[in-house]
Amino acid sequence: MAAIVYLVPPLAIAQPADGAFINIYSARHYPTDEALYADFTKTTGIKINRIDSDDAGILTRLKAEGAASPADVILLVDAARLWRAEVEGLFLPVKSKLLEEVIPDNLRAKRADNGGIPWFGLSTRARVIVYDKFKLQKSDVDTYEKLADPKLKGKLCIRSGSHPYNLSLFGAMTEHMGPQQTEIWLKGVVNNLARNPAGGDTDQIKGVASGECAVAVSNTYYLARLMRSFNPVDKALVEKVSIVFPNQASWGTHLNIAGGAVAKNSKNQINALKFLEYLASASAQNHFANGNNEWPAVKGMSFDNPALKAMSGGVFKSEVLPVSAIGMNQIKVQQMLDRVGFK
Ligand code: FE
Repeated sequence: MAAIVYLVPPLAIAQPADGAFINIYSARHYPTDEALYADFTKTTGIKINRIDSDDAGILTRLKAEGAASPADVILLVDAARLWRAEVEGLFLPVKSKLLEEVIPDNLRAKRADNGGIPWFGLSTRARVIVYDKFKLQKSDVDTYEKLADPKLKGKLCIRSGSHPYNLSLFGAMTEHMGPQQTEIWLKGVVNNLARNPAGGDTDQIKGVASGECAVAVSNTYYLARLMRSFNPVDKALVEKVSIVFPNQASWGTHLNIAGGAVAKNSKNQINALKFLEYLASASAQNHFANGNNEWPAVKGMSFDNPALKAMSGGVFKSEVLPVSAIGMNQIKVQQMLDRVGFK
């Protein structure tokens, strides 16, 4: 028999002697999620072993492990990566009346040949524009297109173009404007950079607050985290910036999702599905909203997060695009980034 060759070390996960467990591969790098996992174990008695990595790392690992993979549940934090994993056959499409009932059509994968759904969006985040309210007007930065306006030369901070959050935003822009216009736009964005892209979204917000840039791009939960912080440094930072939900007069603000799936080779499929269904429960959805400042994916779910309400004024128009379209544009977008020199 051929030996299994691991490109990454196999997991040393021991089965608890006293019962049920699931192995989760998670790209959710949010410490507040610990409470979520503990609550699941308390409610169901099912123990959780968790491996944290980024989206790309998880996909690589699953492919390397193949049928021997111990993964039961996969949690990813980007729409295009969810799509990619689905296309590569890493998910087990599952039938869940509950999940199909509560998760809107546009936030989950299309039905697979076996009648199941390969993955479900569980929370959403908007990619918004943050600006220095003393240097710019809202009307200077109220669309993504304006980030390429020569008026903003040397004023823009944004993380790496190749980061999944940006690849998905640019993939969506490609849908809205077409590839030619998008490449011209990306060139304009690069021309406006205040510095070489580095760090995460919070670093870009800090860049605005420090005066290094006048405008930046960030996911909403990073902003909400600062808004809810008791740290005086964070409070001072928030004082200096304003937030705009772009493209309210056109296609709407770019929305990304975090979601979950049962792993293709799961040996604990029933418990894995139980965990996904738990993530759609009122308590878990409220946890996403209050713990990590994401919008619940479940229809009509009420939540109480003053920062999310304050920044959006309650409601905002978000783009409606099939996730598969964003996913399919990834390679095209990466090629454009290479051509325009967007690191
Ligand atoms: Fe993040």
